[in-house]
Amino acid sequence: MPVLTDLLSALQTRDVEVVDLTAPLSASTPVLQLPPPFANTASFRLEEISRYDERGPRWYWNDIHTGEHVGTHVDAPSHWVSGKDGHNVDQIPLSTLIAPAVVLDASAKVAGNPDFLLGIEDIREWEDEHGSLPDGGWLLYRTGWDARSADQDSFLNVSEGASHTPGVSPECARWLAEEAPIAGFGVETVGTDAGRAGELEPMFPCHDRLLGAGKCGLTQLQNLARLPATGTMLVVSPLPIVGGSGSPARVYALVER
Ligand code: MN
Repeated sequence: MPVLTDLLSALQTRDVEVVDLTAPLSASTPVLQLPPPFANTASFRLEEISRYDERGPRWYWNDIHTGEHVGTHVDAPSHWVSGKDGHNVDQIPLSTLIAPAVVLDASAKVAGNPDFLLGIEDIREWEDEHGSLPDGGWLLYRTGWDARSADQDSFLNVSEGASHTPGVSPECARWLAEEAPIAGFGVETVGTDAGRAGELEPMFPCHDRLLGAGKCGLTQLQNLARLPATGTMLVVSPLPIVGGSGSPARVYALVER
């Protein structure tokens, strides 16, 4: 297949660059913290089985402990009650996992307002410059929040009992779910919704609307600043956890230079 030969050759010559959008996964990877009375996810943790010792003299391996929604991860439609009859993470079509992506950069607005909510007008403005959102692809929402990703406190940005992180307005979430041709929405923050989205109507509108429409979420992305506004090929690789609501994922962007 010449097209793959061409791609492999372009990867070798770096005419196509692979950008890793994945956060390192460790015990210090920031995780979502819901307020009481809600249950919370486990953090990621390694449990050593053996390391070239009496438990296994020639080999090193670990068990892993993790929530589905830890680090860079996919939200499957079934994660939310509005999408409960939708796909589990093992059922997400490969055509969604390998698909075009565009980047909307709102980092300047977020710098002045950590509670910034993306509006339909922001997407219209982006479309005026770059064209339509990709059919069956991803909208990646750049906020600059990945700069905080090494530190849980800075990443969750809690003050006076509320997490101040950017998200999406209820109207825009409805529009992305029902009118935009995208299959998924990716963010740099701990979840696709704003830190204070529990106060919105509907509560957590991005989760409610997009997952309810059978679309996917993708969180804790890094390096979106290295992507062009359009023309990226995204490769999202969640584990096929049977019946799972999500999964940590390795996410790569292929970019033409
Ligand atoms: Mn999630």
